[in-house]
Amino acid sequence: MKEKKIEIEYQVYQDMSELSKEDAELLTTARTITKQAYAPYSRFRVGAAARTEKGVVTGTNQENASFPVGICAERSLLSTAATLFPGIAIDTIAISYDNEKGESIHPISPCGMCRQALLEYESRGGKPLRVILSGQSGEIIIVESVSKLLPFAFTDKELS
Ligand SMILES: [Zn+2]
Repeated sequence: MKEKKIEIEYQVYQDMSELSKEDAELLTTARTITKQAYAPYSRFRVGAAARTEKGVVTGTNQENASFPVGICAERSLLSTAATLFPGIAIDTIAISYDNEKGESIHPISPCGMCRQALLEYESRGGKPLRVILSGQSGEIIIVESVSKLLPFAFTDKELS
């Protein structure tokens, strides 16, 4: 038997003033786009903004009275990106939220299903997909590759 350990590296920033100009702009877009979420049930509005070489793509969570039908902001964004810019990698995605029932001052991270979807997109793009996580204010986390958020991932290698 061997004991093994997985560690991930990530960066923590106190606020947006510590970010590069382009990361700050992307996060601002993600924070702002939360207003376009359709979240009448959870009142938890999520916004995502991704930078590609063709331009910025956004997404928001879209809920449904039949709860499983709803879609997260991240996967909403990925569908849009793949449709508008087929074959184009995403450099960085920023994810933010606005919780109408509480505070929005700490970073959240993608749900398991979205991590899986983001990982596939990173693989399709052939380069690391950076992830910026934050609320409407406060600390910001940056992870240099979405693969770090999903150790032991199920990938296309299993299907070959
Ligand atoms: Zn999700």
